Amino acid sequence: MTRRTALFLLLMLATIVPTGAQAPAAASADNPLLREWTTPFKVPPFSEIKPEHFLPAIKEAIAQNRTEIAAIANDTQPATFSNTFEALENSGELLAKVQGVFNALTGAETNPQLQAVNREVTPLVSALRDEVRLNEKLFQRIKAVYDARAKGSLTPIQAKLVEEVYKGYVRAGASLDPAKKEQLKKVNAELSMLTLKFADNQLHDTNEFKLVIDRQEDLKGLPPSVVAGGAAAAKAANMPGKWVYTLQAPSIWPFLQYADSRDLRRQILAAYTSRGDRNDQWDNKKTLSRIAALRVERSQLMGFKSYADFALEENMSKTPAGVYNLLNQLWTPARNVALREAADLQASIDKEGGTFKLEAADWRYYTEKVRKARFDLDEQALRPYFKLDNVVQGAFAVANKLYGITFTPRPDLPTYHPEVRAYEVKDANGEHLSVFFTDYHPRPGKRTGAWSGAMRGASVRNGKVVRPLATNVCNFSRPAGDEPALLTLEEVNTLFHELGHALATFLGKVPYPTIARFPRDFVEVPSQIMENWCLEPEVLKMYAKHYKTGEVIPAALIEKIEKSAQFNQGFITVEYLAASFLDMDWHTLATTAEQDATAFEKASMEKIRLLPEIPPRYRSPFYTHVFSGGYSAGYYAYIWSEVYDKDAFQAFVEKGNLFDPATAKAFRRLLEQGGTVDAMTAYKTFRGKDASVEPLLKARGLK
Ligand SMILES: [Zn+2]
Repeated sequence: MTRRTALFLLLMLATIVPTGAQAPAAASADNPLLREWTTPFKVPPFSEIKPEHFLPAIKEAIAQNRTEIAAIANDTQPATFSNTFEALENSGELLAKVQGVFNALTGAETNPQLQAVNREVTPLVSALRDEVRLNEKLFQRIKAVYDARAKGSLTPIQAKLVEEVYKGYVRAGASLDPAKKEQLKKVNAELSMLTLKFADNQLHDTNEFKLVIDRQEDLKGLPPSVVAGGAAAAKAANMPGKWVYTLQAPSIWPFLQYADSRDLRRQILAAYTSRGDRNDQWDNKKTLSRIAALRVERSQLMGFKSYADFALEENMSKTPAGVYNLLNQLWTPARNVALREAADLQASIDKEGGTFKLEAADWRYYTEKVRKARFDLDEQALRPYFKLDNVVQGAFAVANKLYGITFTPRPDLPTYHPEVRAYEVKDANGEHLSVFFTDYHPRPGKRTGAWSGAMRGASVRNGKVVRPLATNVCNFSRPAGDEPALLTLEEVNTLFHELGHALATFLGKVPYPTIARFPRDFVEVPSQIMENWCLEPEVLKMYAKHYKTGEVIPAALIEKIEKSAQFNQGFITVEYLAASFLDMDWHTLATTAEQDATAFEKASMEKIRLLPEIPPRYRSPFYTHVFSGGYSAGYYAYIWSEVYDKDAFQAFVEKGNLFDPATAKAFRRLLEQGGTVDAMTAYKTFRGKDASVEPLLKARGLK
């Protein structure tokens, strides 16, 4: 192929062109990141890769990519799908290869050297991305193919790529006239400054407050671990002999759950809910009103009525009406259950002889008392049934029963840490699908939380099928003493969840990475659906065996788990939905006039008749998810995905077989397609109808 030869020459050229003092040609030859990998499945040769290899490799990869893009943009031949879109998909191979390893390491096994490299390359990579997006010549070629797409002979998947790439440029402002482009630039610059300021203010107010306790009696009710945590925080704050509680999640929530002192509970909660709203220099109300207004301005420049209209076009939900429709269906049942829960808590207060009315600072405290009285579920008693190795085998067995895929341990493959395990994932017919790395325990140098990633995604590059290198990275309990690693219930759920994301990677068959991803409000469906299997009695029998005796987890214990899972769901759902409504209300504004944030929030919450005892999970002045993070007009996505995962699981339940082959095959098809088919269409094809909220309401005990 001539184009391939040309690209090859370009790659050669880029390698020869010096890209700075750190990357002379001789260093390239010694740099394992710049060599062809000869390992099985082209797994990164981790033992050879040193931190100092990354900076020159990334710089070189950026230079190569820049050359590739210039060649595509400056091509003198008329633009075609092949010389423009396919060429773009094929470009940046080296950058993807190096970044895949780099991102995996900075997440799971980082060190100051890698962090320094990260600081240096992040602006370089984003500058490259901006450059490509603003390349006028390139956009004209993209537009030419887009405009002619009806006349050509594009396959449906090629047509999808053309539409999505074109849309991406247009959504970034590429088709605006010069004056509007200028306006957009100004709006974007102000927005990026304000969203940073919002986050800084929130951080300031979160960190500033300290509840300092110096009398033992004020600690009443707190379990020993929470007391110890308070003492440690005091010591760190140079207040030895006292106890300090902060607004960070691991500190405030247990305090609100257990502290007998109503006065102190009120103090800490008031500090929490007043972040960004203290009428001082860190106040966020004006900032967020301006952010909302600027987002309207930007969206209207692009021809949309509101920011939500602009943002949701990319999602499964498509329109604000679609989101409100779903939120409204959940709201009334959730609110009704929360009202019942409030009555239960009031009864508990009354029984104690309390003469006050339940308020927000009491909710978690009395909930904990009711929970203990009703369920008495000892989390520690469950753990012996959840030995890590057994849970892993259980999750693999579920994947195998659904899709026929197998997991073969490959201790021979290179890994980035001795604790990482490598598997080869094969299809039912023995065909290679993916390499899978699992990394389950915390270490210094690993980010907190749990995530699923890919050091290499699936694609077809220059006509060659490339299969993924998938990862699951978690921070599960380590083995203690003579015991093996025994997981908590939440960790078991997480393990199944992350394997669900990885399954979407293993099974993905999309040739073009640009359109492989699911939309934001669907991306958690493949992961969350796996959580439905892990606690089914039939599945628990497969893996939840006592690590000493081999005894299967008793049915009574399973029942207790199920019942306690539904406890307090009215509160949890209401505080979440309230925040989702608030987000949507801000982002469906169709005016660039700045709002009075306090009055706006009040009206928004009155509209849904929010219970006064339940503040929204995030109030506007500290709602970083939507005013500085990536969740603007998107906080609803968590429960949207959950409606769909519960409904999808229901498809198996209705068949009377949790592993029904036809249903599994249809769901696998959905995973294979990724973002190439409209998510709503794909879902309806799988299910034969639209999703219902009923399975979610049932699962949460709201119906
Ligand atoms: Zn997830």
